[in-house]
Formats: sequence, C-alpha cells, structure tokens
Amino acid sequence: MDENIKGINLVWLSKTGLTNLNAGEGEANLVDIKKYKKNGKEYPYVSGQAMRYYIKEAIRRNLEDGECMCIPDEKGEPSCKGNVDKCISCDLFGFMATIPKGTILPEYPKGHPGGAHTRVSPVKVSPAMGLLPAEETIVMDFLTRRKPQEIAEERRGDIVNVEIGTNLYRCGLAIDVARVGRTEDWTGETLTFKEVVNKGERIKRIKKVLEAIRFLTDYSKQARLLTDFTPDIICISFQNKYSYRLQKIFELKDGLKLDIRRIREILDDVKEYSEKIIFGMISGVIENEGEVKKIFEDYGIPAKTPAEALNEAIGFLSE
Ligand SMILES: [Zn+2]
Repeated sequence: MDENIKGINLVWLSKTGLTNLNAGEGEANLVDIKKYKKNGKEYPYVSGQAMRYYIKEAIRRNLEDGECMCIPDEKGEPSCKGNVDKCISCDLFGFMATIPKGTILPEYPKGHPGGAHTRVSPVKVSPAMGLLPAEETIVMDFLTRRKPQEIAEERRGDIVNVEIGTNLYRCGLAIDVARVGRTEDWTGETLTFKEVVNKGERIKRIKKVLEAIRFLTDYSKQARLLTDFTPDIICISFQNKYSYRLQKIFELKDGLKLDIRRIREILDDVKEYSEKIIFGMISGVIENEGEVKKIFEDYGIPAKTPAEALNEAIGFLSE
C-alpha cells in the first residue's frame, strides 16, 4: 500500500431476511427494533455501537496464535490498559482508560503521568440505516420466555412480542490509515505520529478490518433469527485525502432502484483523490442492476461480486 493512502472508505448495502439486529428501548413484554424517523415515516437502524461490536467480534473470531484483542473490564475499560502495540482492539477501535501513574505504554516509555488515557478510534463506523419504511417491512413475532425455576411439566412462561423485519440496510466504515499502529506525538510544534508497530503489522491490521466485513456473524438474536448481514452491493475507495464523501454514493430512488445521478456525482468527486475505487454487487438486490453496473464501468470500475471486491481491496493493501 502506497504511503499516500490516508483513508479507506467502504459503503455497502445489505438485504436481510426477517430479523431484529438491534433492539430498542422496548417494554416488559416487547422487544422492538431501533428506529429513526424521516419525513414522518419510521425506518429501522442498527446503532454504530452495535456495528462496531459486530466488526470487532468478526476480527476476534479469526485471530491467529499470539494475536491479542483485549476484553473490556467491568468498568468498560480495556483490560490491556490501551497497549496499542500489542492489542489489535485498542489500536483499531480506540479506548478510554484510567491509567495508574508510572504505567509503561508505547507512547509513555518513561511511565504514564496517571489519569485518563484515551485514543480516538482509527476505524469509524456508521449506523446501519434501513432504507425501507418500518410499516411496510416489520411484523410482530412472539416467543415464550420461560422462567428457569419452572419444571418441564408446567411450561408456562411469559409471552414476549418481538418485532422482526426485512430491510435493505446501508452501512459504512472508514479507516483513518495514518493512525493505525501509530500514536499521536505532541512533543514537537505540530502533531506527528509515532509508529508503534511496523508497516507489515499495520497493513495486517487494516486487512483484518476488511476481512471482518465479509465474515460478520455475531449479531444479536441469531439463535432464532439467523441473518446474513454482509455486503450485497459495496463500493470501496483508497484515498490520498481523508474524507467520508463516498458514504453518500448509494441512495434509493423510485422504490428499489439506485439513484444513478447520485453515483455519478459522488464518483466525480471521490475519483479526484482516490488511487483506487472498487465496486461489487450480487444480483437480485436492486431493480436497476444493469444501469448501475454500466455507470461504474463508464468510470473504468468493473463490477465484481462483493467477495471479489473485498479480496481485491485486501490484495491492494499488499501491493
Ligand atoms: Zn486492548
């Protein structure tokens, strides 16, 4: 990967079967779905926090021997105390920790002054926004919540209503490449970055994020609502400027069609500062596939499958 690459953006659409990926506030006997409102209509969404969790868990599942991702302690602080050189989780996702005076960390080789120690997450995640209205896509299911003390012969338990719905979700992720595997150094006149792991390790960690998107599985309620929430349509950019502009490329228009003009407008913008743009799509998700493929091809971006697109992105990191 070129040293010029400052940011990697991924934006993708995923069509789900009946599921409840992120419960809202709910009530005693109701598990609802988190919703946002647009023009007076409700749409489901999955919070950015839940998305971060899914991505972290996908990385954790595929760790190799000797690799470390710490688990937050009871106060929600990283158990590794923010050891960016050793801990992939603290490096990629940032942390807030209280550090005892004198703790040795890569950025404090002489010992931390003590107190709050935070790191901004180099991996930024957007909430997953449902693009189809809740009233058209959500139904009520129910399950029986049995109390543990009840014996098998008297199965009673409470009826719990569970909202489940299908939707087309738009998800986004950006990686602040300059910050991965590096810590901020404020000792000079301007901000510089101190490398705490070598380039090979930095690239390996970025690859893990891209791989995770292909293998997301650890959503809530999967025992009953097995869901594939990985990309069906995806666009990836490797940019020499850090921006989130690509995140606006996919907008629905006239039902399940992607807005072609919008794709053109965003590509015109993002291509100016991108070393590479990749596009992937499977069939049967949107109604104007042909048109969408063609517009990307007009920009010299051949349509692949999402898996091929992610693999190409992973390969590009090693170039
Ligand atoms: Zn950690």
